[in-house]
Amino acid sequence: MLDKLGNSLKDAMKKLAGRSVVDRAAVEDLVKDLQRALLQSDVNVKLVMNLSNAIKTRSLEEELPKGMAVREHVLRIVYQELVKLMGKGTDVTLGSQTILMAGLQGSGKTTTTAKLARYFQRKGLRVGVICGDTFRPGAYEQLSTLCAKINIPCIGNPKETDALKIVREGLPALSHVEVIIIDTQGRHALENDLIKEIIDINAIAKATHRWLVIDAALGQQASEQARRFHEAISIDGVIITKMDGTAKGGGALSAVSETQSGIVFIGSGETIDDLERFDPDGFISRLLGMGDLKALVEKAEESIASSDFDVNAMMRGKFTLRDMYKQLESLNKMGPLKQIMSMLPMGNMQLPEGVLDVTTVKMSRYRIIMDSMTGAELDDPALLSSSRVQRIAHGAGASPEEVRELLKYYKTMKRALKGVRGGGGKFDLQRMMKRFSG
Ligand code: GDP
Ligand code: MG
Repeated sequence: MLDKLGNSLKDAMKKLAGRSVVDRAAVEDLVKDLQRALLQSDVNVKLVMNLSNAIKTRSLEEELPKGMAVREHVLRIVYQELVKLMGKGTDVTLGSQTILMAGLQGSGKTTTTAKLARYFQRKGLRVGVICGDTFRPGAYEQLSTLCAKINIPCIGNPKETDALKIVREGLPALSHVEVIIIDTQGRHALENDLIKEIIDINAIAKATHRWLVIDAALGQQASEQARRFHEAISIDGVIITKMDGTAKGGGALSAVSETQSGIVFIGSGETIDDLERFDPDGFISRLLGMGDLKALVEKAEESIASSDFDVNAMMRGKFTLRDMYKQLESLNKMGPLKQIMSMLPMGNMQLPEGVLDVTTVKMSRYRIIMDSMTGAELDDPALLSSSRVQRIAHGAGASPEEVRELLKYYKTMKRALKGVRGGGGKFDLQRMMKRFSG
């Protein structure tokens, strides 16, 4: 699926390699290749235009983040926009829930119902299914046969013509299970009574999730189908089936965007275990042929997230060894302190010399030493008597001098931070880091 896209993207990205500025012609080339590939894969035209405009505008207008090459910058934007297109990927909770399956006939609902039952069963949950398809001959038999193989109770009645009745009576019969999956009928095209029926089933079942099953081979009509189902029952996840085939898949992708939800699972074969959780990051990285793409995008974000030390408490003068530890930990991910500080808009703030002269190697030494301290010591460095310093040095395989050097560094840092506070300037480290990481 979308393999053409992968190849043309790779070619397009090559054009940006080694450049030092984002050049308009190169970006336009890239966007053109991207459009061609997406359209050939059956992605909806409007979506293609939105995506390519966003990529063009962002690539040309967003400031090139410090330390990032042009190619990485554009790649990151392409990646982020593709993730947006496919949705964030939907969480699957492992608790009690009722899942309603929606989709056209032949899309793979019944097969996927059984696959899902298997999935939750493997996660240790009690599962039961209801066959709400009273239209297709043999529907109950198909589902109950699949379920019998995996010992899952299947409620249904091949003689009953009222699907609502089956669901209404089936729910209490499954009161002992945690996950209930309701299979429904779908016909060749969207008919009004089918839509009415699924609205009613949804109301009776008070479904936790309404997942739309879409065949990867469904082309441009996929968007329209998705929109109708979404209007009726508010779809909150999409399952794309038959991804093992030769389908281009772009139609299904467009459908995802129509429901404003994400892809939950991918069906990749006819057997009951051919169901995969969808991971948009991995999927797009593979598409772009770059394994480390996610890492690239996350690098900056991670260091922001992990800087969870209390900046405000710190600014009030409460700065313990524990704070310093966390700080070193998060700064360490971003590179040498001196380099980072030089990127932060500190204004005319003067830091004492020694504060910045800490190498990455030293930072990790300090962290090892702090690992040998107790919680109480980290919170209150005043406890660090010389016998404790001895103990810590011993535990960390360091010399007592090194421990004292660390303490000296801590004091310098603390004093420096007090100085910043005294200077009255606004000091929002989180914000600064965000700015720095673009
Ligand atoms: P429903 O009408 O929506 O219930 O669709 P079914 O579950 O009956 O599936 C229709 C056909 O598609 C069956 O022959 C299934 O075996 C097949 N099918 C469903 N999911 C997949 C899949 O992920 N891969 C492949 N290769 N076939 C699938
Ligand atoms: Mg079916």
